Amino acid sequence: MKSETNNSILIIGGGLIGLSIAYEFARNKFKVEVLSKNRSESAGFVAAGMLATHAEGLEDELLKFGQQSQNLIPEWIKNIEKDSGINCGLKKCGIVVPFKDIKTLKEFPNYKYGKYLNHKNLRKEITGINEKWAHGLLFEQDGQIDNRRRLMRALERACSLQGVKFQEGSEVKELIQENNKILGAKVFSATGETKNIFCKTVILCCGAWSKKVLHNLPIFPVKGQMLSIQGPENSMKRILFGPNTYLVPRDDGLIVVGATVENKAEFNQGNTPKGINQLQEGIKSLLPEALSWPQMEHWWGFRPCTPDLKPIIGKSDISNLYLATGHYRNGVLFSAITSDIIFKLIQEETLNNIETNFLKKFSLNRF
Ligand SMILES: Cc1cc2nc3c(=O)[nH]c(=O)nc-3n(C[C@H](O)[C@H](O)[C@H](O)COP(=O)(O)OP(=O)(O)OC[C@H]3O[C@@H](n4cnc5c(N)ncnc54)[C@H](O)[C@@H]3O)c2cc1C
Repeated sequence: MKSETNNSILIIGGGLIGLSIAYEFARNKFKVEVLSKNRSESAGFVAAGMLATHAEGLEDELLKFGQQSQNLIPEWIKNIEKDSGINCGLKKCGIVVPFKDIKTLKEFPNYKYGKYLNHKNLRKEITGINEKWAHGLLFEQDGQIDNRRRLMRALERACSLQGVKFQEGSEVKELIQENNKILGAKVFSATGETKNIFCKTVILCCGAWSKKVLHNLPIFPVKGQMLSIQGPENSMKRILFGPNTYLVPRDDGLIVVGATVENKAEFNQGNTPKGINQLQEGIKSLLPEALSWPQMEHWWGFRPCTPDLKPIIGKSDISNLYLATGHYRNGVLFSAITSDIIFKLIQEETLNNIETNFLKKFSLNRF
């Protein structure tokens, strides 16, 4: 067994949250090392990239958390784009939520943040929407990032150029703990070696797999299947967010369609006929003509879920171990605020009242 010493910040998991945190530390001149089991399984490459604070119907502290992250995102993306040279496809394109009747619309949690669309105006916003949708709410403040094709690559590139050391294909099997401190991690590398990596500070960002490293974490996978279709250019400008399916139009006419929510699929890989069929039914129910548009790709991934659907962010009971996991359906949206909070915590910078309040709600102590 080989042994290595490293005093840098050690990030376990090179998915969306791990990369966001790595970037925050690296651009502030820290030495950062990222251990990543398998970059391509990261939900960061799976997500639709919606910034759907209001359209998702987030409530209470999750709503405030999302709103604060959404405020941070333009500056955050500007820095990533500057450091990577890659445009991340951030667009405040607005999200339309359709309703069959006015009663359901008025019961929608974020009703007051939306602009009401009657039958005619709904069709102005979404050409070709199914006749069964009579009303809509337009959340102009919501939008999207092209995470799958751009943001993940931009983060990886910005991190690399800022000196982050990546060990791809390195699975952390266990943390090496002495008393109340993590000394390092036992790692199984891509070349079949086992080695120990020592560090001062560890941040656990293993997404849906987090429980495999820290067994007491209440995290479980919720599988999501997705597909994409190629629409005519400018066929859709807004995201259309239906009850079971959403359509997210990218700049080049590609439309990302998601997603199944499978609580019992565990880590079962692959698309299924049932999953794809559900997405096609969803397209038919929202925008019937899009059923004839060519299908481009289909894929799947695992959302990191907690029992109360809130992320786990902050310091653990162990003095030098921090947690940033459980972002469930909103990891893209929450990435900016998560990296900001973890950086401030480790730097012992003063958090504002809102952040302190979030931390109480999102800490592991709540379970
Ligand atoms: C179908 C679907 C649609 C989604 N749509 C949206 C959306 O529109 N908007 C939004 O905001 N969010 C969305 N999300 C959620 C978002 O993708 C996740 O919340 C986010 O990616 C979580 O980031 P993460 O870094 O915690 O996990 P991941 O991105 O999954 O990364 C975890 C990484 O850790 C690595 N890892 C695991 N175990 C170990 C180990 N032992 N050692 C080393 N590395 C390890 C894995 O290989 C993986 O690369 C969606 C998710 C899915 C699945």
